[in-house]
Amino acid sequence: EGKVGGIVIRDDWPGYRLDLFTYPEHYSGDLECVYLPHGIIMDRTERLARNIMDDIGDHDIVVLCVLKGGYQFCVDLVEYIKALSRNSNKSLLMRVDFIRLKSYLNDQSTEDLHIVGGEDLSVLTEKNVLIVEAVVDTGKTMKALLKHVETFRPKMVKVAGLLVKRVASGMGSLPDYVGFEIPNRFVVGYALDYNEYFRDLNHICVISERGKIKYKI
Ligand code: 5GP
Repeated sequence: EGKVGGIVIRDDWPGYRLDLFTYPEHYSGDLECVYLPHGIIMDRTERLARNIMDDIGDHDIVVLCVLKGGYQFCVDLVEYIKALSRNSNKSLLMRVDFIRLKSYLNDQSTEDLHIVGGEDLSVLTEKNVLIVEAVVDTGKTMKALLKHVETFRPKMVKVAGLLVKRVASGMGSLPDYVGFEIPNRFVVGYALDYNEYFRDLNHICVISERGKIKYKI
């Protein structure tokens, strides 16, 4: 599949009307639209699992989940890889580790990246590492994380990103596995938050102005 793309969501994609899907009552009025329904996220993730398996099946890998936003994608991706490992001749021995990063306040990326938790990454030394991240926006986070991970001398590093935003800068590197390429819009749901809210939403949605104000800090 190569290093590009994923499913391309065009700039003029309006999303789906909210009343066509279900979502928690506590967020009514706080959302603009369903941008990517849960089902298509799952279907695309299933395919990414197969691509990963085709490339690095029969290896041992350490899955490095980038918290908090990446937890749902990581769980679902690992689940699909597990299904392939037990239903095909190839199998991927996986360890799962976590790293917690924080760089956002409200819907703005802040300059400094904080590693605010996670395990001792010396477990990555000499290992094949698959970084699993929900969103790559400017790429700053990924660039900083890759630099950090490299200091532990892994054997190989691959990146799976569910969403990659089309941003002009292009300063970071693209993930090896991309779920969707989306316009430069702030999205929530499927573990992606706005000030810690909306992680408990299964679809990926766009927040309404009212939602932005309600949960602003
Ligand atoms: P970057 O450093 O690439 O600009 O930002 C990446 C990080 O910003 C991601 O790890 C993610 O936490 C956060 N982020 C970027 N875009 C969005 C978005 O649309 N929604 C949410 N919830 N977080 C985002």
